[in-house]
Amino acid sequence: MNNMVLSLAPKFTKLRVLILRQDKPQLDDNAVETIAQNCHDLEDLDLSKSFKLGDRSLYALARGCPDLIKLNISGCSAFSDAALEYLSGYCRKLKILNLCGCVKAASDKALKAIGYNCRQLQSINLGWCEGVGDTGVMSLAYGCPDLRALDLCGCVLITDESVIALANNCLHLRSLGLYYCQNITDRAMYALAHSRVKNKREVWESVKSRYEEEGLINLNISQCTALTPPAVQALCDSCPALHTCPGRHSLIISGCLNLTSVHCACAFQAHRAVAPLSHRAH
Ligand SMILES: [Zn+2]
Repeated sequence: MNNMVLSLAPKFTKLRVLILRQDKPQLDDNAVETIAQNCHDLEDLDLSKSFKLGDRSLYALARGCPDLIKLNISGCSAFSDAALEYLSGYCRKLKILNLCGCVKAASDKALKAIGYNCRQLQSINLGWCEGVGDTGVMSLAYGCPDLRALDLCGCVLITDESVIALANNCLHLRSLGLYYCQNITDRAMYALAHSRVKNKREVWESVKSRYEEEGLINLNISQCTALTPPAVQALCDSCPALHTCPGRHSLIISGCLNLTSVHCACAFQAHRAVAPLSHRAH
């Protein structure tokens, strides 16, 4: 694949989308440099699982592809945070960024730069980036008000402060992954529920679409063992698109044995539908 990219990239100078997902990593920095030197209009680049790539690739992309909107470098574990910081200064149009498993690159320092430079960011995956802490997530919350999806699965350091900052600043947040964030407590759930109420008021004023009113539509809190049923139920009540029922299952609570009493709106509707029938029977 590496040789193919080296020979083809100079011929496709108008390329906008390039997916180079690999099962066996073959791409090296020379190939990415050739892409960056020739494909200046690139908007969507997928380099996931390119374990061989080093910082040279990120520096080249920063200089050659300033129009990148979507970048997937998940699993590229060799990138440093200095290189990611540099890239964020040039690729300021980024909306979707997948950094899952970029343990070295996704530091609080790099996230601070992303929050400062990439204000249009809508989706960022920080799964299993164990170095990410509240400082980094709060920089994103303050810098990227349009954030809609954030995956913090396995970011074991983050606390309620991160979630509270997101709840207060990112009113379009629809999807949040907190799998295994075991410092998260009920305070975070109430902050999300409360932001929903605040947002509803603003939505009412500006008369937005029905979809805009639905709040969180995906939340993964499995293995967040400190959470209690009243807090999670309060959040579930204020976000009607969160479901615990089989089939829809958008509030994921597996591993939280004490949360089995939390139910989505469907459970109450089912109860209401059954109740009049049982009355008639008497
Ligand atoms: Zn449901």
